[in-house]
Amino acid sequence: MKLYNSLTRKKEEFIPRFPGKVSMYTCGPTVYHYAHIGNLRSYIMEDVLEKYMRFSGLDVKRVMNITDVGHLTSDGDTGDDKMLKGAKREHKTVMEIAKFYTDAFFEDCKKLNIKTPDVIEPATGCIDEFIKVIEGLIEKGYAYEAGGNIYFDTSKLEKYYVFNDFKEEDLAVGVREGVTEDANKKNKADFVLWFTKSKFDDQELKWNSPWGIGYPGWHIECSCISMKNLGEYLDIHCGGIDNAFPHHTNEIAQSEAYLGHEWCRYWFHVHHLNTNSGKMSKSKGEFLTVSLLESKGYDPIVYRFFCLNSHYRKSLVFSYENLDNAAASFNKLVSRISAILKEKQGEVDKESFDTLKASFCEAMDNDINTSLALTALYDVLKAQTTAATKIALINEFDKVLSLDLVKKAEQLKSENNEEDIPDEIMELVEKRAVARREKNFSLADSLRDEIAEKGYIIEETRQGTRIRKK
Ligand SMILES: [Zn+2]
Repeated sequence: MKLYNSLTRKKEEFIPRFPGKVSMYTCGPTVYHYAHIGNLRSYIMEDVLEKYMRFSGLDVKRVMNITDVGHLTSDGDTGDDKMLKGAKREHKTVMEIAKFYTDAFFEDCKKLNIKTPDVIEPATGCIDEFIKVIEGLIEKGYAYEAGGNIYFDTSKLEKYYVFNDFKEEDLAVGVREGVTEDANKKNKADFVLWFTKSKFDDQELKWNSPWGIGYPGWHIECSCISMKNLGEYLDIHCGGIDNAFPHHTNEIAQSEAYLGHEWCRYWFHVHHLNTNSGKMSKSKGEFLTVSLLESKGYDPIVYRFFCLNSHYRKSLVFSYENLDNAAASFNKLVSRISAILKEKQGEVDKESFDTLKASFCEAMDNDINTSLALTALYDVLKAQTTAATKIALINEFDKVLSLDLVKKAEQLKSENNEEDIPDEIMELVEKRAVARREKNFSLADSLRDEIAEKGYIIEETRQGTRIRKK
């Protein structure tokens, strides 16, 4: 399998350190808010990567952290404490917030058919490990105390900026105006390993440490949780591209300084989800979550399908129009599979099974090219072979794609004829169709919301608009 490695900026053959076994680490969510669908794009693509590795016969152990302490609003150690901010907003304790949004995150993952990692570690459960590694870094001369905090000294490294796309000037990015530089730092790029002089007087979560009562910085968390569960060598580290710097850069700095050898060989970064107006956080003032998409009548699996249609290293543009198009293709795909289920099945033809599977694997082996893998799936639909072969192949590919294709096709097959839709709803559907034709998408969206509020789901298919009860 060839993967693009952000560290070398090349596509490389993926060779795990121990044959047949893969240690995989994923940066988990900061649990102070719902995950937005841009973050979830990374988790979907990482899920596909993990499943394809398993599909190829590799034994994967995947670890994910949960950031429930220490993440400030800027990755460069400035700004507010995200968890504290969330707790204040909702008048809850930090731990209540963490529990609530951790559960919400895994619920979203479930809806998107994202497998739960083998190990999930909240940062607050690993304080002893953080202290041990920070002590080791101080002993080796890579960390220093200043103004009560412990900092990593980036000047001690031969090469700190390991991801070549990032340089010192980028450190200013994300730092909001009015935030003063930390005067304790010896070098601009140095980062906090342990805070004792918190600028947050009401910091809730604090622990004893050799340097006083305080709490860990964000970056140390991933290095320690990875080493604790996966040992000194990590095969592949995943995350969103926005984490490459400074977060992953700092992870590498501290891990390799501590271990005294190379730590992780392959870095897999998923690119941004954007809206037409730029980097995504909100669309039309709405924070885009899985629940929001559901309330508008979208099946979360359609969002997964939308993501799979594009390569993980390309930025993907989100709009409801694009999602509607994805929904239409997905429904068409399901109805074609449903038609195959209705055919006489016959026997599985081994030869055509192998040939068609090979083209799926070829696409996936080429840096997880999911859009080509979907092309391989469409080729199955029109192949000259038995229905049984086609269904067997679709099930096989779906071990990786996780789109519930045959399950949904079965449902469609057994669905009765059109349900009775009340006239009131049909009128709204018609109004929405007119709004769409006139490209008045905000009106169309609000009509969709109104229809959803009344308990109906609207879906765009190539055959036209389909409406059903929630
Ligand atoms: Zn991380």
